[in-house]
Amino acid sequence: MTLLEPVSCGLCGADDAEPLRWLDDLRYGTLPSPVQLVICRHCGFRYLTPQPRPGTETRFYPNEYDPYRRRGTTAWARRFALRLEIRRLWPYLAPPRRILEIGCATGELLQLIRETGNPRVLGIEPDAEAAQLARARGLDVIEGTLDHILIPGPAFDTVLLQHVLEHLTEPQRALRRIAALLRPGGTVITWLPNGDSWAAAVLGEAWMGYDPPRHRSVFTLETLHRAFAAAGFTIVDEYHEWHGLEWAWGLRLLARARGWRRADRLLTRLHFVLILATTPIGIIASRARRSGRIRIIARRQLA
Ligand SMILES: [Zn+2]
Repeated sequence: MTLLEPVSCGLCGADDAEPLRWLDDLRYGTLPSPVQLVICRHCGFRYLTPQPRPGTETRFYPNEYDPYRRRGTTAWARRFALRLEIRRLWPYLAPPRRILEIGCATGELLQLIRETGNPRVLGIEPDAEAAQLARARGLDVIEGTLDHILIPGPAFDTVLLQHVLEHLTEPQRALRRIAALLRPGGTVITWLPNGDSWAAAVLGEAWMGYDPPRHRSVFTLETLHRAFAAAGFTIVDEYHEWHGLEWAWGLRLLARARGWRRADRLLTRLHFVLILATTPIGIIASRARRSGRIRIIARRQLA
């Protein structure tokens, strides 16, 4: 069976795109051959084609896939960063709000929100094992995707998408579905890669934001604003992360793309040092609104 299939534009549905660049799975090597990143001639949306066929996803999400397998320093740093995020975002997360996280992985964020004081949280997660781990934390988690949940009407005040939008084949359809789940005036908070970033321009195929074939869509600020507006949202905040993570990863992936194994091993050992060393670049990129890792807050327009 072919694992990949050609797709149309995930924003406007047109089947008329031109090639931008070839991408290979530098992180986990799951692709038999590179796939193409294309740009839609109608709406300018950048997406991968071909993409994994429905039902073949597990083949492309190896067991060591980061969001499912964080340990040690990485896990500690991540929880620390999440706690800070929750504190900043508390006006959108505080009780009595009902919170839904789509693609909640093992439920780390939802657990921390609950610990901070809001127990009204629900998660959706397509990976059975990750969903099970989230339930083991005592969280309410539906195993499946947005298409699997049958929630009548606008049941939530805040929807969270932590690096999820870029994994979807049809992000425009997903945003419309999310709008239907939110009460008017409700909020969607999404963390995602920014295709307009300096890191994407400088690192090219080694930019961690591409991550094919797990990432199927590459948003720019322009396509992001348009997609949210088409789903009935107004973007009210745009935050650019300032740390050096994507540069540290980029150097590792560059070494891998060149086949420099010793350099790759060395850079892997130096990962945290590299993050610190490249953070000044991250800070400047963030100030210029050109970070490759952003967080968007959008409000559902009042009907
Ligand atoms: Zn399009």
